[in-house]
Amino acid sequence: MRVFKFGGASIKNAEGVKNLASVLKQVGYDQTLVVVSAMGKTTNALEIVVKNYLDKSAELQSSIQDVKKFHNEILLDLFVNTQHDVYKTISLIFRDMEDVLRHNKSPDYNFVYDQVIGFGELISTTIVSTYLNDVGIKNNWLDVREFIKTDDYYRRANVNWDLTQKRIKSNFDQNSLNITQGFLGSDTNNFTTTLGREGSDYSAAIFGYCLNAENVTIWKDVPGVLNADPRHFEKAQLLDHISYREAIELAFYGASVIHPKTLQPLQKKEIPLYVKSFVNPKNAGTKVGKGVGLSPEVPCFIVKKNQVLVSLSSLDFSYIVEENISEIFKLLHLYKMKVDVIQNSAISFSVCFENTYDNLERLLQHLKSKFKVTCHENVSLYTVRHYKEQDIRSIEKDKNVLLKQLTQETVQMVTI
Ligand code: ADP
Ligand code: ASP
Ligand code: MG
Repeated sequence: MRVFKFGGASIKNAEGVKNLASVLKQVGYDQTLVVVSAMGKTTNALEIVVKNYLDKSAELQSSIQDVKKFHNEILLDLFVNTQHDVYKTISLIFRDMEDVLRHNKSPDYNFVYDQVIGFGELISTTIVSTYLNDVGIKNNWLDVREFIKTDDYYRRANVNWDLTQKRIKSNFDQNSLNITQGFLGSDTNNFTTTLGREGSDYSAAIFGYCLNAENVTIWKDVPGVLNADPRHFEKAQLLDHISYREAIELAFYGASVIHPKTLQPLQKKEIPLYVKSFVNPKNAGTKVGKGVGLSPEVPCFIVKKNQVLVSLSSLDFSYIVEENISEIFKLLHLYKMKVDVIQNSAISFSVCFENTYDNLERLLQHLKSKFKVTCHENVSLYTVRHYKEQDIRSIEKDKNVLLKQLTQETVQMVTI
């Protein structure tokens, strides 16, 4: 078995869907599972729908129309005959989505989010699967929620590995080409859950692990894993081979080309992960696997924008000790902040994190009742692995550094 994953960028328009078919023809698709994300920026568009719905905004209908229109244009390009069944199927999926909104009684943002957001992947996979069948690439469409079972931590659900393994072992036909959704799972009550934004890479790894796949390939708009995000750094270089450990570190620090949860299941079974270009599918790309740490050996740059830096000191000038630190972490956990860096001294504690759940105001209020608090929003976190002095200087050159932390392998700098 091989597992392929095509992300939003690869199917952002009709050309992309045609290209996906061409990639499969070029590299073969026997005994392959194709995991597909929502098309283009659909997930962002559905986030607006969810927000409008919960805010009871007058814009709700127009935000739904935007999503419909985007997909309809793709359909018109792919299926010239407007009597094609796919038009009816897609409009039924949209009707299901509107039914969810109409019948929902829950005020829980995270729950509603997962019930709505998953439609992006249900629609994209239906379009891709139908198109592939039409051009002679016969495949089965699978509902991933029958296979990937999770807890009910909506928006960042945790996989129930035992149950998922069992479902995949007993219900998955390994002998054909299967198409399914990335990013989604379902909880014990069969409500849709999501695995965290950009989680489709992880979905591919979950299947790779449970199917003992030969390899997993994620098809991207870049030649492979580069030593920096080409959107933010000039002259990024392709990494030919990296170890699981190196890839885990890069993804953990924020190299968004691979979702951070993707690598550990693959490492456990030593399943290679290929990151390849959907534009040049025959090129080698990057292999993540056993052996060589990093080839070529170059510094790797990662930047995370829109982070928050909070510094705390005690109200009575006493030291920040274990008790305070444990309290601070309890609050960070309570408000679901994703912590990137911490630094403490005798009288202060700084923490840089991502405000994924929009809880910053509440966290700050809580902290202010116990500490003196300063907060910088919209800071950037730079991480350089295998750094040289000149790399640090090049980042510091035109920025104000608020926090800096060095280990032998890695330097991290919070800048504004
Ligand atoms: P997908 O379509 O699968 O969602 P993403 O957009 O999440 O793909 O990932 C591809 C993008 O990741 C690239 O366009 C690139 O801008 C970004 N990226 C960030 N860090 C790196 C890196 N180290 N190497 C390559 N691409 C990177
Ligand atoms: N569609 C989801 C997102 O945009 C999952 C993914 O693309 O990996 O976050
Ligand atoms: Mg993505």
